[in-house]
Amino acid sequence: MRSLPTTLRALGEAETLRRLVAAVASAGDEAGALRAGLACAVDALDADAGAVLRGDAVPAATGWGDAVPSAERLASLAAAGEAVVDLPGAADAITVAAPLADGHLIVVRRERLTDAHTALLRAIAAVLDGTAQMAGDLAAARTARAAAEERAGDLQRRQRLFEDLSGIQRSISHRAPLPEVLDAVVAAAEDLFGDEMPALLLADEDDPGTLRVVASRGLSPAYRESLGSRRAGEGVAGRAYAEGRLVVIEDYSDSADAMPRFRSMGVTAAMAAPVHEHGRPIGSLIVSTHRPGRRYGETERDILCSLAEHASLAVSDAKTVAAVAHQAMHDRLTGLPNGALFRDRLKHAAVRGRRFGRPVAVLFCDLDRFKTVNDSVGHAGGDELLVAIGERLRQCVRASDTAARLGGDEFAVLLEDLDHPGRPHLVAQRIVEALRQPLEVGGHELRPGVSVGVAVGIADAGELLRWADLAMYRAKGEGAGGVAVYEPAMGDAAVDRLALEADLARAVENGELEVDYQPIVELGEQRLVGFEALVRWAHPQRGRMAPGVFVPVAEETGLVRDIGRHVLRSACAQAAQWRRRHPDAGLDTITVNLSGRELADPRLPSDVAAALRSSGLPARCLVLEITETVLMRDTETTLDRLADLKALGVRLAVDDFGTGYSSLRYLRRFPVDILKMAKPFIDTIATDDVDTALACTILDLGANLGLQVVAEGIERDEQATVLRALGCEMGQGYHYARPLSAEAASAMLGDPPRHGVWSVRAGGA
Ligand code: C2E
Ligand code: MG
Ligand code: MG
Repeated sequence: MRSLPTTLRALGEAETLRRLVAAVASAGDEAGALRAGLACAVDALDADAGAVLRGDAVPAATGWGDAVPSAERLASLAAAGEAVVDLPGAADAITVAAPLADGHLIVVRRERLTDAHTALLRAIAAVLDGTAQMAGDLAAARTARAAAEERAGDLQRRQRLFEDLSGIQRSISHRAPLPEVLDAVVAAAEDLFGDEMPALLLADEDDPGTLRVVASRGLSPAYRESLGSRRAGEGVAGRAYAEGRLVVIEDYSDSADAMPRFRSMGVTAAMAAPVHEHGRPIGSLIVSTHRPGRRYGETERDILCSLAEHASLAVSDAKTVAAVAHQAMHDRLTGLPNGALFRDRLKHAAVRGRRFGRPVAVLFCDLDRFKTVNDSVGHAGGDELLVAIGERLRQCVRASDTAARLGGDEFAVLLEDLDHPGRPHLVAQRIVEALRQPLEVGGHELRPGVSVGVAVGIADAGELLRWADLAMYRAKGEGAGGVAVYEPAMGDAAVDRLALEADLARAVENGELEVDYQPIVELGEQRLVGFEALVRWAHPQRGRMAPGVFVPVAEETGLVRDIGRHVLRSACAQAAQWRRRHPDAGLDTITVNLSGRELADPRLPSDVAAALRSSGLPARCLVLEITETVLMRDTETTLDRLADLKALGVRLAVDDFGTGYSSLRYLRRFPVDILKMAKPFIDTIATDDVDTALACTILDLGANLGLQVVAEGIERDEQATVLRALGCEMGQGYHYARPLSAEAASAMLGDPPRHGVWSVRAGGA
């Protein structure tokens, strides 16, 4: 250790060293400390130049002009002790060196240095040595501390990032509304960056060249406006979107890429990361600030990218969810809302209706003859038809109403905010009219037709829908292509019908079905030639019921096959027995009625064959009656079925002839044997000339086609007289006998009529 205090005192230069220490200490780092020390030494020694040699570097030099000596040269000067050098404007200056820990402090003076100067130089070197080292250490320590602090800050920030991101992930997985999730992303950016102006921009769906702010924090209106209409490729946000990569500008005021507008608003730095959807950029997340000297480190860049990726996830997810939700709630074929969505909307409408006392209307629409149409144009044609119908339905309602496809050929319409009470009925009629217009499907012109049930009221959703459904059935019942409005009585009828269906299912096995027989008479001789079997239901509570009440129910529920087979077996067995017991009674016909559904059933011919076989009745004795409307319904299938029945040897009759719309062409093609002239003609045959003429026509037709004609519903003698006069040979009706129980009919067979009328009238329904 050198004797510093002595030297200092001797030279009176304490002040120099104090200044030196202060200068060195205030230097930020070692190089700064060496520069400050050299300046101090040059000044204190009144030198012309100086340099610091450290190892093989020259960290500080002054006064040499452009000719700073190299480290090697300085090393040789130092080694020489005192040497002579040339300085700019001063030849022959003298160098003196004082040793440093790892080099020398060298000064150059035109005049020689005294020993005191040399001592001061050494003292300065010693101080410099220590403090510069210290300053270096200090700077290093400071750097280390700052790094540690940054690490700690980083850690904290990472923790926050983790929390923010998991919050965002949670809201994505919980299907929070998209704006909410995007707002959370922007909030996280604000939280993590501390920058004043985070914003999320997404490309306009109609104009992908333009970005729009969808979430932001702290944007001034002017800033928002400039950012809001950003073009792709413009500025930091526009470039991140256009280039699909992270874009950072830290010296915003100097950067050529900066937007002058934002520069003038005082933006100092900005950074944006792209937002993607299925790998395609769709926008960007930008942070920008007014803070001077803002730098974005690696971590921060990563964080921004991560946040942008979360926004990407949210957008893609929301779109997928929206697509899936749309699919789940709409009919694939017509694109109309489906049953689930309809019920949901109806539920809400019904709740609102109840709260505000405003009625809601439901229209239940069921296509007429869709099955037939579908059969004629094929499955693809049927689909095409449904799409076209969906489109027409949509055009019949306002945008605020809901037209939906419930499934199959059922559609429904929900009307809210009824401005006048007649609107539901009006819309229903408009729908009927729209679907009555022809539609072109696969080269066919189709007129689908629809029946509409209307329910209007303040009630719950299920009730409204049920009412509309009941009304629709009423509309169908009143003839296709109509509108019916729900009335409470329809509800009672529906309940009644449900009970009836349940009872009917057990009626056959409980033996509740009975068959009555109405005589068919040869009009001229007034001779009994046959019976028509007519079914009745002896209901344990409701009493005896006519077929008009329960046969339609049996038709719809499919129970009619069981009932039909029962009647067929009973009638065949009964007729066979009568023929055995009364071989001379001339009974050669038993007539059984068939419904449309029975005729459509391919098992019918084998059922008939089985009944004939088991009874032993000759097939020619059995007549099967099919009403005119059923016969004309599905002519091609009917023709095949009739041919199969005829092949068994049975005879066929057209029931209620004259009430439907028989095509004469078909009548010729059908292998029928008998026409049963419907009761309405007979009712007025003796009083109305037109009906008499019509009856005449039917009789002529029968004669021309070689068909027997049987008049139905003869109630009075004069009707029988006119019919006979017109040449009608056969008839049945209350005038001769009502439908009779099997016992009563048996009795009649053994008991010829008195005055043309059988005395037995029991059992008639
Ligand atoms: P339908 O085949 O035309 O039978 C004649 C209907 O007219 C019978 O009514 C009969 O009782 C009634 N009737 C007969 N003569 C007179 C008359 O002089 N005056 C009046 N007012 N009515 C008369 P019912 O028994 O009520 O049968 C109604 C319809 O039910 C039948 O009409 C037939 O289409 C159907 N039906 C009856 N039994 C069966 C069956 O076993 N199976 C099927 N599928 N349908 C049946
Ligand atoms: Mg009949
Ligand atoms: Mg009839």
